Amino acid sequence: MTDALPPGSTIGIVGGGQLGRMSAMAAARLGYRAHIFATEASSPASQVSAATTVGAYDDVDALARFARDVDVVTFEFENISAAGLELLAGIKPVRPGPAVLRASQDRVTEKCFINAVGGSTASWAAVNNPDDLASAVAEIGLPSVLKTTRLGYDGRGQAVLRERGDAEAAWERLAPRPLVLEAFVDFACEISVVVARGLDGSVAAFDAVENWHRHHILDLTLAPARISAELAENARATAIRVAAGLGVVGLLAVEMFVDRDGKLLVNELAPRPHNSGHWTIDACPASQFEMHIRAVAGLPLPPATRHSDAVMKNLVGPDDLALWPEILATPGLIPHLYGKAEARPGRKMGHVTRLFPRGALPGEHGVRAVLGVLADGESK
Ligand code: AMP
Repeated sequence: MTDALPPGSTIGIVGGGQLGRMSAMAAARLGYRAHIFATEASSPASQVSAATTVGAYDDVDALARFARDVDVVTFEFENISAAGLELLAGIKPVRPGPAVLRASQDRVTEKCFINAVGGSTASWAAVNNPDDLASAVAEIGLPSVLKTTRLGYDGRGQAVLRERGDAEAAWERLAPRPLVLEAFVDFACEISVVVARGLDGSVAAFDAVENWHRHHILDLTLAPARISAELAENARATAIRVAAGLGVVGLLAVEMFVDRDGKLLVNELAPRPHNSGHWTIDACPASQFEMHIRAVAGLPLPPATRHSDAVMKNLVGPDDLALWPEILATPGLIPHLYGKAEARPGRKMGHVTRLFPRGALPGEHGVRAVLGVLADGESK
């Protein structure tokens, strides 16, 4: 392991949110310092890190200062500009590399890549103007989903087209353009796999998990997904193939639909720790965050084994946060809070995990009941 960063080295993390925070905590446990690049000095990640460089994500002077101060650069936030990426990569090793980030920043590039490595996606067509949209609707049919190719997250920047007449208003509303039209998938469930890939090309893929959303935001993750062993293995194999094809060093989260025929369709890639991997902190000997740091630091990757089954629930906005005292008083709920000053609606403030012996994950209707004070609500 000649390329391994020695203890005491500094890992630069671009982005100051909860993913950076939990990566920095994993880095600290492995004897590294974390240095955050964020737009505010007291970001959630900064609060647990040795240093922060404050700057905008396109501030080349600040990015250069940051890169000079660290030993390796990684990300918790993938929407940094192409110029910013090139600049960082010219100063220090950037893991995953700029090509991986560029592929995941644009839905069309991403889908081309997934299809090229043999991954299936819902049928799709690039939409650069209203004429493209008309022909895409004719080709793909309705219902379908129109999405911005860049900067969409948590269901922002997309519209479901149910009738031909919906197309014009959706075109007008969605920005930034260009757009992409996808067939609407009548899915049986949504799953994801987080895979780590090391500097030496070794891989460790966590089990496929099942994701339930609420108001377009991840609400619950069930680990493992309640799908057949064969499908779960296919999902892991798909994630590994995509990560290897992209040459990822670090983490890749692969979000997939399982359609009504039991077919896997890749929806989205994220080359970073992922919300659907938070359960690994409590249910696995090495979490997604430890895998992230190990991969970017050139350390060996342990197997991505799971000692327990788990349900993870996000704490979103002021309503969930208001339950914090009760959460702390509920035996079995493992609490995580991200240190965000303001609990705006829709903002991810923390999460809780509940563990079960392997094989004892509650069924569909029991999942909410095990969350105690957080049992209210509907998601899917
Ligand atoms: P995305 O931003 O692509 O992750 O989409 C956010 C959510 O919208 C997904 O988790 C799905 O619940 C839903 N969604 C996105 N694309 C489709 C699709 N093609 N068919 C059905 N539902 C979709």
